[in-house]
Amino acid sequence: MSKSLQAIRGMNDILPEQTPLWRHFEGTVARLLDNYSYKQIRMPIVEFTELFKRSIGEVTDIVEKEMYTFDDRNGDSLTLRPEGTAACVRAVLEHGITGGGQVQKLWYIGPMFRHERPQKGRYRQFHQIGLEVFNLDGPDIDAELIVLTWRLWGELGIRDAVKLELNSLGTSESRGRYREALVAFLSTHLDKLDEDSQRRLKTNPLRVLDTKNADTQAILADAPKMADYLDDESRLHFEGLKARLDAVGIPYVINPKLVRGLDYYSKTVFEWVTDKLGAQGTVCAGGRYDGLVEQMGGKPTPGVGFAMGIERLVLMLETLEQIPEEISRQVDVYLCAFGEAAELAGLALAERVRDQLPNLRLQVNAGAGSFKSQFKKADKSGALYALILGDDEMAQQVVGFKPLRGQGEQQSIAWDALAAHLATCIVQG
Ligand code: ATP
Ligand code: MG
Repeated sequence: MSKSLQAIRGMNDILPEQTPLWRHFEGTVARLLDNYSYKQIRMPIVEFTELFKRSIGEVTDIVEKEMYTFDDRNGDSLTLRPEGTAACVRAVLEHGITGGGQVQKLWYIGPMFRHERPQKGRYRQFHQIGLEVFNLDGPDIDAELIVLTWRLWGELGIRDAVKLELNSLGTSESRGRYREALVAFLSTHLDKLDEDSQRRLKTNPLRVLDTKNADTQAILADAPKMADYLDDESRLHFEGLKARLDAVGIPYVINPKLVRGLDYYSKTVFEWVTDKLGAQGTVCAGGRYDGLVEQMGGKPTPGVGFAMGIERLVLMLETLEQIPEEISRQVDVYLCAFGEAAELAGLALAERVRDQLPNLRLQVNAGAGSFKSQFKKADKSGALYALILGDDEMAQQVVGFKPLRGQGEQQSIAWDALAAHLATCIVQG
């Protein structure tokens, strides 16, 4: 096939048989966020390249090697957004909606772009739902973000398959002191570190903690511990978060090596991880970024947020078979009309039923065809019932009401009584 007829590597179509599960996921999240009073914000998917460099940090994987950057026709350097926080901060600053300490609890959904090696759970266009909260600095709000994801996992039926990992990176002062201690320690083992870690030691030393290299990990076992460098403020904040998670009964493990890939975090960082997806096990990740807004040119404004990867969570629903029955069935009732007069009557009847049962999934088959072929289609649609409208039914102003899944015998229902009858037969999602 010619290359122009293929999607770009790592960028996927989401096909009609997949979209019901996506919509189930997205709908569940949107309803939950309404319940917690978060408001949706929508940002463009392209921003000035400089925005991401300044916020995410020059020496991060994202900025160093993953961004889709291009010059537009004016010669401006633009980038397809690799994540949502930078654009969200840009938007709240531009519109002044966090000024004067105004609290904002925001969420967004949409595609993100990173030039990574495509594999299961890792794509070049992927989708996130993210939350950002501004002007609340206490551990109660960090806890709220985690509590609401915990509820989400419960509603989706995947709670037993995810684990919460937590860490505190401290304030920028305590992080600075820890960085110095870590650099001093690692410098004495420089020749034994893997190449990547040697480079990170110079550019972004905390990221060395993140290494997958076993030898470097062994060296790190004796490295100074971040927890020993937390100042009182950070320690109290972290204790406050843990107390709240304990109060709700949310299990967690402290992972002292959790540092996250982005530069802007301070104090709380967390990840929800699973062992059900192979190597790409982080389904949701975030943390506090109290210095970011100021760093981007705004007034000091505390912030905290997270993003979850929709592809990975949808994969989890599939893997764990947490697919609600009503979304695997997309049609409740299938109407077959035979002949031209029946087709017209069927159309009008279907609209009357839709007036009364707005949630009913009713498919009308306007095509011609034998009884046999129409029933085949009705059956294939997944519908629970077929409605039959032929010459006999027209004469009596009834429809044949035929259960397709072994729920009893066919009966005749008067047109006027059809909606009421359907309402008793079908539990609507
Ligand atoms: P990873 O360590 O897997 O690369 P990350 O730290 O780069 O993740 P974040 O920037 O924190 O990821 O993004 C939040 C979430 O978005 C991740 O936990 C993951 O679920 C999802 N995600 C990130 N990158 C991708 C990708 N390339 N493809 C699919 N999902 C992704
Ligand atoms: Mg990454």
